[in-house]
Amino acid sequence: MLKRLLNSAKIEFTISPVDPLLIKSGQATVGGVDMSFVRTRRNNGRNEPFIPGSSLKGVIRSYAEKICRTLKTEPVPVCLPYVTPGKEGQGEQGQASCGLRFEEYKKGNGIKDLSSRDAYSYSCPACRTFGSHVFTGRFKSADAYLLSGVNPSFEIRDGVAIDRITGGAASGAKYDLEVLVKGDFSTTIEIHNFERWQLGLIALVLRDMEDELIRIGSGTSRGLGRIKATISSFTVSYFGSQQSTLTGISGQCTDQEKSDYGFANETGGNSTLTKSVQKGLRFEHDITANWKDVLAPAVNDLTDYIASVQWPAGITDYTRRR
Ligand SMILES: [Zn+2]
Repeated sequence: MLKRLLNSAKIEFTISPVDPLLIKSGQATVGGVDMSFVRTRRNNGRNEPFIPGSSLKGVIRSYAEKICRTLKTEPVPVCLPYVTPGKEGQGEQGQASCGLRFEEYKKGNGIKDLSSRDAYSYSCPACRTFGSHVFTGRFKSADAYLLSGVNPSFEIRDGVAIDRITGGAASGAKYDLEVLVKGDFSTTIEIHNFERWQLGLIALVLRDMEDELIRIGSGTSRGLGRIKATISSFTVSYFGSQQSTLTGISGQCTDQEKSDYGFANETGGNSTLTKSVQKGLRFEHDITANWKDVLAPAVNDLTDYIASVQWPAGITDYTRRR
């Protein structure tokens, strides 16, 4: 990705359980519960439940992929991150992982490092945003910690272990699950050097998270994991330049960079930004009060971009080159 920082967006929000939540801990527990909620030591050594940033990122990514798949079905515009090229199953044709395709290409041609231009340019919309084996994405999510003063409460549920491969009940295995029924967490997500459609994509995920449509953790098919997000702060910042309308990296970089990286055009209209506050080199716009309106053109960009995206044809051609 471009070495210089041109823009960033930062969203702070709280997560509250609507259904009981289970984010599994990998560790054995002393209390005799088979599956316990993940905890970390914070605030004077107290052992508190938390939601790892990696879990949140996983949920946001897969929901974002779902949105892209809804916007275009043929060909599917995003990859399946765990599918190896040549090993696509039924219904997975053309959807092998961008990262694994690039890895295979590098191996086959004795290439050590792919240029970040090519890796970005030929990646699917999800890998462009969230990253893949060959490059880090621009999206970051922090661990979500309990809001101060909040006392979480848990319940123990009986669960029958679901065999992870067949989806059936594993033989005779009975499990106790420790689920969180009360407790509000706060967290931050950030995206750097965003294309405007990427903000649109994140906005659609957040909107559905506010509307309690997103589930996280384990047991989501058994009624666990529904959450509600409440956005407390949404800021968009530009570095070294002031903007009066919402733009993304393609409105800020050179024409050469735009073509090298394949940044999409901003076709979805304009929205005015409120006056910025200067913080060093950064001009920060607070859009908390009307983020859905401000980001409407970004959502239009997303629709246009997905409709015209050259994935998977582009990456298929590229990885055939010698
Ligand atoms: Zn991909």
